[in-house]
Amino acid sequence: MDKKQFVNNVLDGKKSLVVSVSDQIFDFAEIGFHEFKTATLYEKVLKEEGFEVEMGIDGMPTAFKASYGSGKPVVGFLAEYDALPELSQKGGCANRVPTEDPNPDGHGCGHNLLGAGTFAAALAVKAYLEEHPGKGTVVLFGCPSEEKGNSKTFMARDGVFDCLDVAYTWHPGAQNAVAAYSSLANVSVFFRFKGVTAHAAAAPEVGRSALDAAELMSVGVNYLREHIISDARVHYAYRDVGGIAPNVVQGHSCVHYFIRAPKAWQVQEIYKRVVDVAEGAAKMTGTEMTYELYAGLSDYVPNHVLSEVLHEAMEEVGAPAFDENDFELARHFFYDSASEAELEAKKAAVKKQYGAEKAELLLDKPLDQWIAPLVWKGEVLPGSTDVGDASYVVPTAQLSTATATVGTAGHTWQMTAHGNTEIAHKAMLNAAAAMAIAGIRMFEEPELVDKARAEWKEEVDSYQCPIPKEVGPRLED
Ligand SMILES: [Zn+2]
Repeated sequence: MDKKQFVNNVLDGKKSLVVSVSDQIFDFAEIGFHEFKTATLYEKVLKEEGFEVEMGIDGMPTAFKASYGSGKPVVGFLAEYDALPELSQKGGCANRVPTEDPNPDGHGCGHNLLGAGTFAAALAVKAYLEEHPGKGTVVLFGCPSEEKGNSKTFMARDGVFDCLDVAYTWHPGAQNAVAAYSSLANVSVFFRFKGVTAHAAAAPEVGRSALDAAELMSVGVNYLREHIISDARVHYAYRDVGGIAPNVVQGHSCVHYFIRAPKAWQVQEIYKRVVDVAEGAAKMTGTEMTYELYAGLSDYVPNHVLSEVLHEAMEEVGAPAFDENDFELARHFFYDSASEAELEAKKAAVKKQYGAEKAELLLDKPLDQWIAPLVWKGEVLPGSTDVGDASYVVPTAQLSTATATVGTAGHTWQMTAHGNTEIAHKAMLNAAAAMAIAGIRMFEEPELVDKARAEWKEEVDSYQCPIPKEVGPRLED
């Protein structure tokens, strides 16, 4: 059987369904754990396509498990579909124009495409299993709230992925490549200060400012940065500043911290020191401090066997077939909204990544037209993903395809703007084809599953979930 031909035929037939699912979810733009319209849409289309669907798995109403087939191996695809706050943006528009929808949120990380791409891959693998009954099972896991709720971490901790033999996923981006890198582990923690309110002019001596404590904590952590590993990342947002009246000493405050490092144990070490700083700030201000772990993520451990299979599949499929319309739109994204300094930085980054020759071509046609070679350099991506926790409990590989113009960063309105364009649709279906071929190979060459699992057992001897058993997903936030 020509797998590429087979997969392309299936995806050609399902193209309008997959694109429509992706575009509807682009418009829904629902943030983490609030993806109700999205989950309902997936339930409907998956049932119509003949999957057995369980909604609301692992205590998360917008999580789901859709299965087809019987026996082993069990090949999993991991879907995401949450949007990001305040990143509403008109699709295909290279200037900052939010949509007319009152919802301010948008798919600034392309998760509308991510979910629909894995859905498409699952459809193609299901079509294969229909022709080869008994060869195994395909499962599409709907994993909500990747951005702020880290559903895969809970699912990994609670054994949800233990039914899988291997897992594949992908992420929209600006490059066609298998993810031959790790990602940062992190924890997400709330620090709360309790002070004493008072009239700020008439009786300041009896007040104890919780806002002062939060500010001093930030100062302390900003000094701490000098003395932690340079690969670590610490950032924060004020969640509660204690009110809006300058003439009232603030009695309460809350700062939300993210602490990231290449390995989970490094995160734990820095986390302890940040707690010390918070305690110091409380002492300095005569306030009380409590802290609460909100979420946590492990580093991503790429499976080499599965990554190589995925890379071969990408090479077989080839880069997305962009046309002049796509290049024209990409030129707008690359050149229109960038200042001169930003443009120079973007050009330099393209040259560094692709070399002088390809860079010259890309400055005219700014969409990645190649498949990056699979090279293991031990790199750590400066971001975090809950795919990390999945990779600790099941051998996992992931890829990206160029759903966006070169140099487009994630979590930006520019990324949102690409999300329902032809560029994105082509690259999404391209990713789906590669994942489907890689998935089908698991049924045709089960020895690859054994090899992948042997590597995974060797690499990941035990999994310590960064979220303790008693902490559940924050569905209401
Ligand atoms: Zn993302």
